[in-house]
Amino acid sequence: MTTPTAHLINGQIVSCPQARLQDVYNPATGAVSGKVELASQATVEAAIAAAEAAFPAWRDTIPVKRARILARFQRLLEERADEICAAITAEHGKVTDDARGELQRGIENVEFATYIPELLKGEHSKNVGPRIDSWSEFQPLGVVAGITPFNFPAMVPLWMFPAALACGNTFVLKPSERDPRAALLIGQIALEAGVPPGVLNVVNGDKEAVDTLLTDKRVQAVSFVGSTPIAEYIYATASANGKRVQALGGAKNHAVIMPDADLDNAVSALMGAAYGSCGERCMAISVAVAVGNEVADALVAKLSTTLASLKVGPGTEASAEMGPLISKPHFEKVRGYVDAGVAEGATLVVDGRTLKVAGHEQGYFLGGTLFDHVTPEMSIYKDEIFGPVLCVVRAHSLQEAMDLIDAHEYGNGTCIFTRDGEAARYFTDLIKVGMVGVNVPLPVPVAYHSFGGWKRSLFGDLSAYGPDAVRFYTRRKTISQRWPTGGVRETAQFAFPA
Ligand code: NAD
Repeated sequence: MTTPTAHLINGQIVSCPQARLQDVYNPATGAVSGKVELASQATVEAAIAAAEAAFPAWRDTIPVKRARILARFQRLLEERADEICAAITAEHGKVTDDARGELQRGIENVEFATYIPELLKGEHSKNVGPRIDSWSEFQPLGVVAGITPFNFPAMVPLWMFPAALACGNTFVLKPSERDPRAALLIGQIALEAGVPPGVLNVVNGDKEAVDTLLTDKRVQAVSFVGSTPIAEYIYATASANGKRVQALGGAKNHAVIMPDADLDNAVSALMGAAYGSCGERCMAISVAVAVGNEVADALVAKLSTTLASLKVGPGTEASAEMGPLISKPHFEKVRGYVDAGVAEGATLVVDGRTLKVAGHEQGYFLGGTLFDHVTPEMSIYKDEIFGPVLCVVRAHSLQEAMDLIDAHEYGNGTCIFTRDGEAARYFTDLIKVGMVGVNVPLPVPVAYHSFGGWKRSLFGDLSAYGPDAVRFYTRRKTISQRWPTGGVRETAQFAFPA
């Protein structure tokens, strides 16, 4: 057993002898693989103090120098990808290729942050009045906190702190306590790249650590990604404490399959989108809405045949396409939803509960599961299951499919499979969802766009990463300047000049 995963504060690995400890598991075996220290309020306060002390010098570091440090960080992440991905797979369980994909997406956010001299250029107007010039500049906020979920232990932290640092802020990151190693390693690599001590701090922990970040007056803004109930709590609590907040929550993403869709391509796309990463993605497709019974029958037949050959196994096995779920409680929760779907009257076409992975009987493996004839009042339709369970719903028309999507509490991602441009345009124009794909099952925006859902998938005004991150991690200041040339030129004015 290795030493417990601790914290990175002011450039040092800090461990507290009296800390509460929590087990970390290898989801492929069910065995305890390590422990994580859960930071006390005092430990988090030490991280905030380090970030506050580091802020003035980092704020005053010229943006191109901050960008060069981030460019070195990008190179080191690429060089040490194997080590980071091994940590992701060991604690999260996802297959190694998927860990690489996650890290690559994260690295693209670092790359975006290296454009910061261009992104911070601001706005300038000459002669807004007689010899008056006016400009807006975008200044850093100070100490910013990030709280991240288990399902992307490297990518989601990289959505946040590179952009925040590039803008001149200092940062306290609180990763998921279920798979904490990757984020701590990434923090250490940032320091090796030249991020000064205190500019990036990583504290591991649970509610005590989070609540300290939400209430401490020195923290100016909070970025959160996780489940909707916690996102709502974070938004309410941090806002009540005067902080700027963006809180990204859960999802139930629908794919609409039109009668004219290229069905073989749609099935391949749905397989990856529903079962990739064991369905533990906020952009996973968990509902397929088939328009018309003919397409529904064909879709269910093709999906069930394809599911039969889905290779499930430990993430470290090169042939595995899908790994285990994150934890035993989550495994039981997802299994419970399959039981509930049967009890509620949905047709269980493929039952993942029967899967056994030889040699890994204690691992949290659930096979790919497919339900047909799912209806909107069932819990398997309403709730985010966050597992390898795809629900097929049958609709009579595109409008009926869109009404279903619009009525759902979540609005993160959606997509339509069709060959009809008019239908696609109608869908993309009117659907009440933040990220929309046309024949693209996981319409995750690239790093130079921004990521965010609608409805109860995002609390706050600005999305994550990309251009919105530059706005989120900076405050606009507008300056109007006049240099009178020789003596008093104007008498006092008591009304706005007309
Ligand atoms: P979670 O909400 O349980 O945990 C997220 C973070 O909040 C963790 O760091 C955790 O320590 C902290 N936390 C948990 N309970 C808390 C409490 N009571 N008080 C204070 N802090 C608390 O989420 P998770 O299970 O780690 O991640 C999965 C969820 O995240 C899914 O709902 C998924 O859809 C969502 N997610 C959303 C996005 C997005 O961009 N919208 C991206 C990834 C994941």
